[in-house]
Amino acid sequence: MAGIYFHIPFCKTRCLYCDFFSSTALSLREAYVEAMCRELEERSDYLKGHSIATVYFGGGTPSQLPAKSFEKLFGTLAAVFPALSPCEITLEANPDDITPEYLDSLENLPFNRISLGVQSLNDSELQFLNRRHDAQSAIRSVRLCREKGWENISVDLMYGLPNQTMESWLSTLRQVMDAEVQHLSAYHLIYEEGTPLFNLLQQGNIHCLDEELSVTMFETLIDELTGAGFEQYEISNFARPGCQSRHNSGYWNGTHYLGIGASAHSYNGISRQWNKTIHGPAYRTPGVEREILDEKALFNDFIITRLRTMKGIDLEEMETLFGSEKKACCMQQADKHLSNQLLKVANNHLRLTRKGLFVSDGIMSGLLL
Ligand code: SF4
Repeated sequence: MAGIYFHIPFCKTRCLYCDFFSSTALSLREAYVEAMCRELEERSDYLKGHSIATVYFGGGTPSQLPAKSFEKLFGTLAAVFPALSPCEITLEANPDDITPEYLDSLENLPFNRISLGVQSLNDSELQFLNRRHDAQSAIRSVRLCREKGWENISVDLMYGLPNQTMESWLSTLRQVMDAEVQHLSAYHLIYEEGTPLFNLLQQGNIHCLDEELSVTMFETLIDELTGAGFEQYEISNFARPGCQSRHNSGYWNGTHYLGIGASAHSYNGISRQWNKTIHGPAYRTPGVEREILDEKALFNDFIITRLRTMKGIDLEEMETLFGSEKKACCMQQADKHLSNQLLKVANNHLRLTRKGLFVSDGIMSGLLL
């Protein structure tokens, strides 16, 4: 089983916090799609012997592509992988792109999941982030998707914004629950160097949210979502039963994947590689940078990815892959966290406890080689 990721780097405008590879040069879209088709053909061997379980269009803003671009990409996919029958095909979309006409234009394409970049349902927070939608149009986009037959709708949210209050966070969460989505990803705002957001912080024009309040927001997120029948299956991801993201789960369980497009990453169990960030007329199958994964890197990847999930680290799998000595070493490091109830072992899986979720980075780094 494997996944394919397409990076669509186009955005109408740039958000304040964004450090993804994206561009507002929308006139380059057609040439870029052509180049992605060529890249797919040239890289078809990368996933040889695997059946493709998931396809994910992320960005950037994939909903900035017209239906005819997706037709071209799906046509090339079918030609390159004739036996392709993925069970999950996700389109990332911005709420402001979701119109009845746009959804109608996608009707005959094989998407079966949509992930909406809502981020907040508070208008001043959205304006601060320089998002292009307001709260009302975000909710309208969820409803419209459902009316048009999308049964698997995910929403991305962001918390820990400067000046954000508990009331506003709670209100965003409750409105999203009321909109009856199937999946939710929620990430704390990160001040990435080089972004306008980072500069505002450096200049003292904004201040980080109080850490205690950030923690309370994370606690509230878990309580509200699990209380509404969602399962927390990864630190930042929640799903109604049976609606976990299969594509993203692949990243956490070691599934191989091929990334197509500028800055896209690929992984095949032996190496990790990432495409260079060129696009448009200049875009062609890009050169890649590659890291061959030695046993230490594979072990560390295994710890970091598996421990993010609520299923945790399968200790039997760890022993099979890395031997009993490495497993013993990991358990020795885990010992103090087991005593402090930050980790637990259940069904031969090493997992974060609820308390451990709040300090997961520190726990993971303590278990690495
Ligand atoms: S829509 Fe996404 S990729 Fe585009 S600028 Fe905003 S955060 Fe970045």
